[in-house]
Order: sequence, then structure tokens, then C-alpha cells
Amino acid sequence: MALYVQKYGGTSVGTVDRIEAVADKVQRFKQQGHDIVVVVSAMSGETNRLIGLAKGIQDKPNAREMDVLVSTGEQVTIALLCMALDKRGLSARSYTGSQIKILTDSAHTKARIQDIEVTAMQADLQAGRVVVVAGFQGVDAEGNITTLGRGGSDTTGVALAAALKADECQIYTDVDGVYTTDPRVVQEARRLERITFEEMLEMASLGSKVLQIRAVEFAGKYKVPLRVLSSFEDGPGTLITIEDDSAVEKPVISGIAFNRDEAKLTVMGVPDVPGVASRILGPVSRANIEVDVIVQNVAADNTTDFTFTVHRNDYEATEQVLSQVAEELGAREVIGDNKIAKVSIVGVGMRSHAGVASKMFDALADENINIQMISTSEIKVSVVIAEKYLELAVRALHSAFDMDVNDSVSE
Ligand code: ADP
Ligand code: ASP
Ligand code: MG
Repeated sequence: MALYVQKYGGTSVGTVDRIEAVADKVQRFKQQGHDIVVVVSAMSGETNRLIGLAKGIQDKPNAREMDVLVSTGEQVTIALLCMALDKRGLSARSYTGSQIKILTDSAHTKARIQDIEVTAMQADLQAGRVVVVAGFQGVDAEGNITTLGRGGSDTTGVALAAALKADECQIYTDVDGVYTTDPRVVQEARRLERITFEEMLEMASLGSKVLQIRAVEFAGKYKVPLRVLSSFEDGPGTLITIEDDSAVEKPVISGIAFNRDEAKLTVMGVPDVPGVASRILGPVSRANIEVDVIVQNVAADNTTDFTFTVHRNDYEATEQVLSQVAEELGAREVIGDNKIAKVSIVGVGMRSHAGVASKMFDALADENINIQMISTSEIKVSVVIAEKYLELAVRALHSAFDMDVNDSVSE
């Protein structure tokens, strides 16, 4: 007998039939004697539909009202799932984030969980009931509805598992685990039996949206056993582990992540004097714009070109900030490109292997793909390339690092 927190994503509850299939699955776990807390997302497409309604009225709708709006998607699915469970003779109760009391800060649309009250859930479990909780939402100290950012139901699942000390947090989705790269882009992608928190965190933050970044952070911090599995077929899924000492011969690269959400800007011909980086990036950060990859090149004429990437949504705002900065600094011009993509290879094995980056660059050169920017950390190498080459680059790297389905893992 175990306690499982099971999170079902949008596609898994996308129709009434699928909600019934989730109820069947929960029933099977109950029949095996397990205690189950279910977290559900809104039906697939619903959160986007709600955001679309709001944008039809205002370009930048008030964040508090946005949360009141988008949290309704999950309120629908908790009720429908409880009805489906009831139909099967199972006793179940639905809860919104504020009913449970998932207490968050007041950062609307990107709130962070601060505390979770477990008494009501524990009483339900004790009474043999299935607890069904709305993902993605919480409540702040003043009673305002908050949401946790896109994909936030994953975080609700992990946070409930931590608070209830569950035996496992199971993330049921439309793929049967975490793959070497997005299986919708590379057919040869392979399901991983295990991946470390550290690698999963890099993969998530570099663009693999299979798990929300905060969910992985949370699970790592509170040591929540976390597994990604398919809603539609049985299988072991992928276990996210603290340390992976199971494989004697680990591959150097565990996965490839990519992201099309960035744009690149360059301030050209800035006098190469101390303080330039701070004078360029200071105003950008004061405008609340986050900067990702940065590259600075010095030319023979004692000027420098300063390039960095930001989220694509911040492209125009950054351009505006920079035009002002460029004038102040006496720069030649500001140029930009929002048709770029970032591709990253990730693996803890990189720490003990030399030549990983050059192998990556060779593979891209063989395909004639120009690298515009490079950034590295201990367990990842990222490159910025033209967006049109993204899929070609991911496929080339997947094969160069022997990750394709038919390649040996221990080479
Ligand atoms: P849910 O609605 O269940 O939360 P998501 O769409 O958020 O599902 O996440 C699942 C999707 O993540 C998959 O359909 C897949 O296309 C994508 N994905 C991206 N990278 C990976 C990866 N490395 N492994 C598995 N899936 C990935
Ligand atoms: N429904 C929310 C979203 O689409 C939360 C989630 O699905 O995890 O982002
Ligand atoms: Mg998701």
C-alpha cells in the first residue's frame, strides 16, 4: 500500500472519454489498495482559449483578473473527474487551490507556493476517499486566486507529494516518459529509464516542456520521487533520480533541449571601455527584461559589439531600451534577429569527458549550420543558430552523440 500523487495533464483530460479513462486508472490503483491524490490540468486548449478571450478585450489584462479567469479551467476538470469516480462507486472529493489552501505569494500569473494545508486531505484519505485537486492554482494571504505559471499543474503535483510525504509523484502525460529529445521532433528519440534531477532541471530550463522547471526544482529540494508516465499505456516511464549510479557506463550526453522563444540583439561599435556591459544591461534589467546568452567581441578599432538574447516577447521592448542606450554610448547601431533558436546538449557525463563541445560544433559544421553564439556550463553546451536550421541541428546532434533508438547506449 502506497500513497501516490498522480497528475494528469491537459491531453489526458482533454475529453469526457479521457476523463473516464483517468477514472478507470485511478480505480485500478484504489483496487490495489493504494491511497490516491489526483491533480488535474484544464482540458487541453482551455487555458489558451481563456487567455485568448482576455486578449480580445485588453492587450495586457490585469494580472489578478487573469488568474481569476485562467484558474477556471482546472475547476471544470476536478468536478468532472469526481463525477466519473462517483459513477464507478468510488468516493471522491474535489478541491480548488484555495479550498485546500495552497498558500502562495501574490505574484499573479507566476506565484510561488509557500505552504500547503494537509489536514483535510489526510482526513479524506483516512476515510478512503480519492482527493482531486485543481492544478496550477493557489491563494495568497489576502484570499486572492493566484496561478503558478504555464505548466504549473506539475508543480502542484510535486508540492502536494512533498507536503503529504507521498511515496511517489506520478506525472501522467501524452508521452510515455522523458526522451533524449522531444519525440515529436526527432522520431529516433529514445525514452530514458532514468535521468538525474540536475539534468532534468537543465533540460526543463533549456526548453523541454515535458516538466515545468519549478516542479523539478521543488522535487529536487524536497527529494520527492518523481516519475513521468503515459496516461494512455502502461509502462515504467522515466524516473527522475537524485544520483544515477545505476548505469556503469553512462552516456556523456543524456538529452538535447531546444527553444524557439528567444531573440537576439546586438549593440554594434561601442567604445571598448570599462563599464560598457553594465551600462547596456543595467537599463535592460531595470525594464524587467531577463537576459540569457551574452557574447562580447572586440574589434581592431577599439570598439566592441555586444550581443545578448532575451525572450522573444521582450524583443520590441528591448529594442526600445537599447536605442536610447546606444545613443548615450555613442554606439554605431543596434541590430536584432528574432528568428533564432537555442539548441543545448545536456549531460552530467560532460564533467568527466573532454571534447564534447568540439564534437557538437563538428556535427553542426558538417550540416553547414552557422553557430551565432555559444554558452556553456558544467553539464551543458548551448548554441544559438538560425531558427530554420533547428530541426536539422537537433537531428544531427542526436545522431552524432549516438542517441538514436538503434544506437548502443554504452559506446
Ligand atoms: P501535459 O499537458 O500532460 O502537461 P505537456 O505538453 O506539458 O503535457 O508535456 C508533454 C510534451 O512535452 C510531449 O508531448 C512532448 O512533445 C514534449 N517534450 C518536449 N521535450 C520532451 C522530452 N525530452 N521528452 C518527452 N517529451 C518532451
Ligand atoms: N492549464 C495550465 C496550462 O495550460 C496548467 C497546466 O496544464 O499545467 O498551462
Ligand atoms: Mg505540462
